[in-house]
Amino acid sequence: MKIVVTGGAGFLGSHLCDKLLELGHKVVCIDNLLTGSEKNIEGLKNNPNFKFINQDVTEINQDDIDQIYHLASPASPNKNNPKSYMSLPFETMQVNSIGTWNLCEEALKRGAKFLFASTSEVYGDPLEHPQKETYNGNVSTTGPRSVYDESKRFGETIVSSFIRHKNLDGRIVRIFNTYGPRMPEDGRVVIEFVKAALQNKPFPVFGDGTQTRSFCYVLDLVEGIIAAMEKGSSGQIYNLGNPDEFTILDLAQKIKELTNSTSEISFADRLPQDDPKKRCPDITKARQSLGWEPKISLEEGLQKLIAHLKR
Ligand code: NAD
Ligand code: UDP
Repeated sequence: MKIVVTGGAGFLGSHLCDKLLELGHKVVCIDNLLTGSEKNIEGLKNNPNFKFINQDVTEINQDDIDQIYHLASPASPNKNNPKSYMSLPFETMQVNSIGTWNLCEEALKRGAKFLFASTSEVYGDPLEHPQKETYNGNVSTTGPRSVYDESKRFGETIVSSFIRHKNLDGRIVRIFNTYGPRMPEDGRVVIEFVKAALQNKPFPVFGDGTQTRSFCYVLDLVEGIIAAMEKGSSGQIYNLGNPDEFTILDLAQKIKELTNSTSEISFADRLPQDDPKKRCPDITKARQSLGWEPKISLEEGLQKLIAHLKR
């Protein structure tokens, strides 16, 4: 099959390209390198089944496509980092709205299957825990995270409308915090903490560190994304993530142990505005409908990431 991956030079997208090529597909990676890097796809450049096009998704024009995975979008909330969605508000709103609309049109014209990479952020600072796909979320429409949260929510509305009114063969995955090799240094917590630990610098904990997240290793996640495309039904939404939940202080402690670091906790900042206090996916639907669940524990995944960064 010929498959387009938007955001294919990014963290998740590059691992998805690897896996799709391994499965024998032809892959066209479309990426404008806004937050991604050609380094992530360096190993693929000589593969005759792989093509990289440096292009904005709002301009894509490809023939004979069987599937489109739409992953392009900045993904970090860290306002101090130039690659975060808070530093790229207009690009973020554009790629998730106009970009998604354009790609739905392209998929429809070519009879291609479509998958939209949405996010656990559509649940905002959730009042239901763990979060099921049926939960509608607790999201600010105007707060600093809204450029991401609300544009992903609108992206979901666009995809759902193309499915409902135009018969697009589409599905949505809501991805929860994912980590692993090739994570960009965009200020997200796992990479910040591992970097700090390897340099024996303090872990910059925002707030009191009791907020929780559930971290999924990238290779598990990629299998879930492909399962949603291959085994999922059109019109369905799937949470994809690891349901093991940790506080941010637990995460710092684990990374400290695994790196034998002397880093201490530094309570660097207040909890940023609208930062979710708890997050954990209910993945019952993905387990039952896709036969998918993560296999790699946080400890094992962190070991892999640390080994990769040391190399
Ligand atoms: P990333 O920043 O590494 O990758 C995003 C890629 O999209 C980059 O290569 C970037 O250059 C590209 N891009 C951005 N705007 C573009 C545009 N207009 N045209 C073409 N390319 C564009 O981020 P990631 O962590 O790999 O995230 C990938 C997707 O998964 C995003 O849609 C993100 O919202 C979603 N997601 C990721 C996580 C996570 O934990 N990694 C969690 C939830 C959702
Ligand atoms: N966080 C932190 N220190 C950092 C980066 C993040 O304490 O250097 C916290 C952040 O406030 C949030 C959690 O870690 O509560 C996860 O943040 P991340 O940026 O990875 O993504 P989010 O899950 O908020 O989208």
